[in-house]
Order: sequence, then C-alpha cells, then structure tokens
Amino acid sequence: MSGGFLPVCRPLLPGADAVAAYLRRVDAARHYTNRGPLVRQLESRLARALRIPDHAIRTASNGTSAIEIAVLASAGPARPDRPMALMPSYSFAATGLAVERLGYRVLFADIDPATWAMDLSAVAHHPRLAEVGVIVTVAPYGRAPDLAGAETLSRATGIPVVIDAAASFERLWERPGTVSSTVPLTVSFHATKTFSTGEGGAVIWDDPAGQDRVVQAANFGFNLSRRSEVAGTNAKMSEYHAAVGHAMLDGFDQRRADYAATVARWAEATARLPGRMHLPPDLASVYILWEAPGPEQRARVQAALEADRVDTRLWYELGMHKQPHFARPAQPALPVTEDLGARLLGLPMAHDMDPADMARVVAIMRRALGQEM
Ligand SMILES: *Cc1c(COP(=O)(O)O)cnc(C)c1O
Repeated sequence: MSGGFLPVCRPLLPGADAVAAYLRRVDAARHYTNRGPLVRQLESRLARALRIPDHAIRTASNGTSAIEIAVLASAGPARPDRPMALMPSYSFAATGLAVERLGYRVLFADIDPATWAMDLSAVAHHPRLAEVGVIVTVAPYGRAPDLAGAETLSRATGIPVVIDAAASFERLWERPGTVSSTVPLTVSFHATKTFSTGEGGAVIWDDPAGQDRVVQAANFGFNLSRRSEVAGTNAKMSEYHAAVGHAMLDGFDQRRADYAATVARWAEATARLPGRMHLPPDLASVYILWEAPGPEQRARVQAALEADRVDTRLWYELGMHKQPHFARPAQPALPVTEDLGARLLGLPMAHDMDPADMARVVAIMRRALGQEM
C-alpha cells in the first residue's frame, strides 16, 4: 500500500496575486528596507490584532535574529562575570545558536514532563545562577508562553529572561494582550510556522525604551546617526517580506478555520492509536505529534513510515545537547529531555491535508505496532 511521497509539512504562503497589491506600494515608495512603510503598517496591524500597544511589536528578519536582538536589548552581550545563557536543551537549535552569537555559552536545563518547558521554580534555584547572564525559556511547539512565571523568575533572580515563543503566534492571537513589560518574547514567521512572511520574526515587549533598543540592535547599533553605539547586527525585515505578511494577515482567519477543520480530522483518525497524540490547539497548528509508549515503538513506526515514503520529523532532534556542535564531555543530567526526545515523532501536517493521507499514515502506524485494523 505504497503511495506518493508525503512531506511532513507543506506550507502555502499567499500567492503572487495576493501579494501584488502590496508590492506595487513598494514600487511606488522606492523604500525597500530600514523600517519602511509596509513594515511599520504590518507592526501596527499585528499590534491591533494582538490587542497590544503599537510600540509593543517590532519585526525582525527571522525568529533567530529576533532572539538575538531581544537578548541584546534586555541582557546585552555576554559579560566575563556572567558568560552563561541558561536554556532548555529541548528546543530548535536556533535558541542556542542565537545567544552564542552574543558571546554566551549555553547551559542546558531539563524540562518538565507535562509542559515540555523548563521548570521555572527549579530554575530559580539552579546551582550555577551566579554565572548566568540571561535565561532563555522556550514555549515548545507553539504552546502558550508562561509570561507570569518568566516575570516572577526574572524578579526573583535579577537575571533578564527572554521567551523563545517562536511557534506560539496563535496563542497570542487567541489571548489578546499577551505581552509583558519586563520579559520580551520572540516569535518566528518562518515558512514552516502558522503565520509566515517567508522569513521573518518579531519581538513582543511592552517596554517602549526596550523596543527602541531592539530597533537599534537590529540596525547595527545605530541610533539616529550612522555610528555604532551599542552591539548590534542586521536583523531588519525588508519591505518585500512585510508585503507577504500583509497578504498573510488578510487571509489569516480563513487559514485558522482551515487548520481547525484539519486538526479535527486528525484527532478522529488517531483516536485509537496506542501512546498519546499531541494536537493543536495545545500546539501550533503546524505540529501533529505522536508520543510513543517507548523508544522502540517510536523507532519502529518512524522506520515503517519512512519505508512507505511518509516523511516524519524530530522537530527538536534529541535535544540540543545531543547535537555535535553543542555536545560537551560533561553535561548536566537531562533525563526528561532524553526520555521525551526518544519518544516524540512529528507527523505530516498541512492546512489543506487530504483525509486520505491521514488514513494512510495511521494505517502504516497501526501495522507497525501490530494493532488490529
Ligand atoms: C522556528 C523556531 C526558531 C527559529 O526561527 P527562524 O525564523 O527559523 O529563525 C527558534 N526557536 C524555535 C523553538 C522555533 O520553533
């Protein structure tokens, strides 16, 4: 029962016709980047949709650079007395890479088995806090970011906290006013995320002076002059990406409805699988995750799907600490990360996924698990 190749994600961004009206505005303005009119208007439209103040959202060239400029604007670059960035290993590699660009060394903490995020009350008593210059928490797979917990942690430790909420845009959309004045959070508008500008991202933070530093950090550290006054980079969203963002926003209610219908079909199709399904809206709409009872079942199902040309993904691999670049001879023990990393499997998803493809995936999984059909 072999079908065609089924990709794990199949994004669909606004088509050329939908983007064209916005591109004509770029042509007319002859303003292509450096916070042009389309970028500013996109920020305003997003602020209105998320019911946050206008100054509370600033776009970036991607989600990774959004983390970088949020850390620069809140904690600054690494200092010799506090060279470590404390973060969960269980995240996409961008979380670690972003802070390394600022001179930090990553220090991995384990996650909570229920939330898959760092246990913030444990982090508050981490034995190496005196070396930590910034704490980056992660809202995994687009789950709701714990803003109150992050604010409490920052207040209790005196250490700046940034939330990598790269995939959590829908949670902000559903919960108007999800913003903090002390803890910046970052989102990604990558093509694999639910709301996309192709490449893009944003820093969401209700701190006007902080957001001025975000803009400065994103533009070579310039502030009203062409002198680099503070550490910076080039993290600016271009007008062309903003044009895609406007068109995406025009169709976003329809896109959310399409995802909801597809998620309902996925829930029905997978209702009797062993193990546990993790589905939107607990997660971002782009993620359909199967939690296998054990690593052996995960490996068996993954191999069966790949053999039948169904693409799967370990979105966060086995944790950053298992990847060659981040591996260290002596790692702190991360038992929850290792257990979850060995059992989660990302299944195919698209907003317009054919129910026949879901049935195909589930049939292969059941056969691999020896389950009666
Ligand atoms: C997607 C993602 C990023 C990176 O975003 P880009 O826009 O691809 O740079 C960072 N962290 C997490 C958790 C992500 O899912």
